[in-house]
Formats: sequence, structure tokens, C-alpha cells
Amino acid sequence: MTTWPIYAAWKGPIIMIGFGSIGHGTLPLILRHLTVDPKQISVIDPSTEWKHLADKQGVNFQQTALTKENHKDVMRPLLSTGGQPLIVNLSVDVSSLDMMRVAREAGALYIDTVIEPWPGFYYNGKVDNAARTNYALREKMLALKAKLGVGPTAVSCCGANPGMVSWFVKRALLKLAVDLEFETARPRSRSEWAVLMKNLGVKGIHIAERDTQRAKNPKPVGTFVNTWSVEGFISEGKQPAELGWGTHEKKLPAEGRRFKTGSKCAIFLERAGAETKVRTWVPDIGPQFGFLVTHNEAISISDYYTVREGKRITFRPTCHYAYHPSNDAVLSIHEMFGAGGVKQDKQHILEPDEIATGQDKLGVLIYGHKKNAFWFGSQLSIEEARTLAPYQSATGLQVTSAVLAGIVWAIENPNRGIVETDEMDFERCLEIQTPYLGPVGGVYTDWNPLKSIDSLFNAPGDKRDPWQFSNILVK
Ligand code: NAD
Repeated sequence: MTTWPIYAAWKGPIIMIGFGSIGHGTLPLILRHLTVDPKQISVIDPSTEWKHLADKQGVNFQQTALTKENHKDVMRPLLSTGGQPLIVNLSVDVSSLDMMRVAREAGALYIDTVIEPWPGFYYNGKVDNAARTNYALREKMLALKAKLGVGPTAVSCCGANPGMVSWFVKRALLKLAVDLEFETARPRSRSEWAVLMKNLGVKGIHIAERDTQRAKNPKPVGTFVNTWSVEGFISEGKQPAELGWGTHEKKLPAEGRRFKTGSKCAIFLERAGAETKVRTWVPDIGPQFGFLVTHNEAISISDYYTVREGKRITFRPTCHYAYHPSNDAVLSIHEMFGAGGVKQDKQHILEPDEIATGQDKLGVLIYGHKKNAFWFGSQLSIEEARTLAPYQSATGLQVTSAVLAGIVWAIENPNRGIVETDEMDFERCLEIQTPYLGPVGGVYTDWNPLKSIDSLFNAPGDKRDPWQFSNILVK
């Protein structure tokens, strides 16, 4: 695309919290697609690593770490410079819920890409594992959503995943309906979407990702290397493995635990997500292992597509992340857990020009229906990402373009209160995002997890239903 569309003019202040890989990748997209004076934009980050990019693009940079104690005082002057503010929270270690409260008090629009807590949550060994889950974080967000009610829009968890993948699920379901010759009107509500998924015979969804981006230089011993936040990946990787738990599942895994409150749409395992392997499938590569790292979308999607008849739940899909990160990140995880889970001293996020080649294949594998399984997603190469936008890997661009879509949707829908991406207009969001995603499309596969069980060392698995989680989980 040579001329990029302008989606809106923004007259108020924009406050970007966090200017790491996603933050400094998002800024050029904001400047490209919104009419906004760079002087209206302020970045808050304790690290000056990327300050030169803020300076180069003419935005203000404030070197501060937001804390539970100081965040209101730091934000107040930035929010009151005239016009409705927009808060773009792309940090680690800053509470999403407290920032949503600040946004509501100031009448600001708000967006983030995860429900981030203040420091101390992820690694708290004094609480039980249930208290360290994304289910627990999401329950708190849902309580705040109910308490605050209608008001300025605050988009929760709008990156690639969580985020874009929820839009892919809807697009994929409509395609599946056509391919199965299933006559349906376009669903108009959450319950109609859930009924459609049920009627299509879906049992579950993997957020199936393979990052083949390869660094020019091999990972040094003692450095955690990733294509996006190292801190973000370690913290979620050391949370318990977690998944939306479908109604077709026959048996809880040995380490599986149910939740005691809330919708109870998910379960967690008493083991770290980044140490838990599952069998999955992505295009071109085929069968592969993924890590069952906990993610908000695994819970929100299972919850969104739950069908209730009265109080009885008649359908719910299993849903979880199945993440094969870049080879360097796999080695980094291996090294970290090999050292008792102690983080390496050095961390490094690969910059675009440090990557030799590769793609991020990120999609939804929708399984269990009459056509077996359908992967629908984005396959963005580093080469294409470099031509589309500056300062980011393919992984980064899949995230930052979702942030852009979420910002535009919030500006176009300014009074929706707190929303999850499952509740947004997926067509509009994908219309904005797709130019940044490389090839986007779907492919059917006859693969199922039974085909990936090596019979030399494993019991045969549940042959009556290949899509049982017991066949997917690598024991
Ligand atoms: P990053 O580690 O590169 O950057 C995080 C930034 O936050 C850093 O610059 C850091 O200095 C800053 N920060 C730390 N403490 C802060 C504080 N107290 N106040 C203000 N800023 C602070 O991470 P990233 O790759 O840019 O990811 C940012 C966030 O986006 C993370 O929470 C990550 O989990 C999330 N993320 C979501 C998705 C998705 O698809 N939904 C994908 C990638 C990243």
C-alpha cells in the first residue's frame, strides 16, 4: 500500500505507557493512520533504550516507572492538557485495571494488550496457583467492567493473541459454515455466535502459532532471546498452564484443577505453561509441539462461545494456546527451566535487522467438525514486515496492527465501557489490520493429535474421540 488510510483525527492527548518492542512499534502506526500532532503524544517508560525513536518522531518522553503509589499523580497533568485523552498501555508491570480506573475518571479512551498486574503477582509463591492464573486476572476485569458499566471505551487485551485471534475465530466460523453447506444467517449476538459454533460441530480451538524467525547470530549461553517481550513471555510462561475446558472433554488431566468461582469455563494445571507441551498443527510445517502457555483468549473464547439452556450448559469449546516460539526462545526456555526457573541475567529482543529470515504463523485451529480441522490465520514473514512498517519483527507487527485496529474501533465506538475483543466488530477490525498481516487465509487438514503420538513410548490414546485433551497433552 503506498497511500495509507487516515482513520480519524485525534485532538486530545495520547499517553503511551511502555515503549518496548510493542510500544515503539505502535507509535509509527498511530502517526500514520491518525491525524494527530506528535506533540500531543507522551511516552512514559523507565527505560531510555528507545527514547531516540520518540525524539526522532517528535513525541514527548518521560522517564518514569509508574507504580501503584505514583500512577495517578504522574498521569494527572498529562491527561488534562485539553481534549479527550487516549491511554495506550503497552507496558509490563503496570496494572491494567488501575489504568482503566484512571481512564474512566478522566473520561479517556483506553486500550491494552494483556491484563497486566502490578509487580508481585506472577511470581508470588505465597499464594496457591489458582491465584496466579489469567482466569483470576480476567475475573477481576469482569468485575470492574460490571461495576463501571457504560462509559468511555476501554479495550481489554487487544494484541495479536489475545486480540486478533478472536476476530479470526468469527471469520473462520463463517467460512466453515459455507464449506459445510450449513445455512445460517450472520450471527448478531454472542449467543447466536455460540449456537453457530455448536451447530457446526466444533469441539475446540488451538491458538496454533509457529514463529520460524531465525536470528543471524546464534543465541549466546545465558541470554534469554525472544521476538517480543522477554519479561512478558517469562511471566506468562511461569504462570500455571491454563485452558478453556470444553463440554466434550471426558476426563480432567491428572494435574488439572477447576476454579471455584466465576463462570468456571476454564481449568488450570499445577505446572508452568512454558514447561507443558501439547500436540498441534500449523500450515506448511504440519504437526508440531506447542507450549500450553496461559493466555486470556483461551478463557474469553471458551466463555464467549458457551451455550446455555436455562442454567444448563449444553456446549462450550476447549480453547488454548499452542505456542512454538522462535528457536532461540525455545532454547531460552529450556535453559531457564534447566536452571530451576531462574531467569538468565541477560535478556534480548531481536530487532528486525538481526533476523535472517522466517515467519510468524499465527492462527486458530478449529477442530472436531465434519471437515476435521481448519487453520485460519496470518503468515507474516520478516521480509514483508520490514516493508510494511518500521522498528518491528513479524511477531511485533501482528500485535501492533491489532492495537491500531483496537484504537480506531474505540474512536468509532467511544462509549462502550470495558470490552473484550470477542465483543468488537471483527469485520471492521480485520479491515484495518489485514494490510499488515501478510497472507491471511485458511487451510483444512486431516491431522489429529492421535497421529502425533509416538507408539514406541506411549499408550495409544483415546481412539473413540481423537480430539480429547488427553490426546493433545504431552504427558
Ligand atoms: P517489552 O518488555 O519490550 O516492553 C515493556 C516496556 O514496559 C519496557 O520498555 C519497560 O521499560 C516498560 N515498563 C516496565 N515497567 C514500567 C513501569 N512501571 N511503568 C511504565 N513502563 C514500564 O514488552 P513488549 O514486547 O513491548 O510487550 C508489552 C506488553 O504487551 C507486555 O505486557 C506483553 O505481554 C504484551 N504483549 C501482548 C501481545 C498480544 O498479542 N496480546 C503480544 C506481545 C506482547
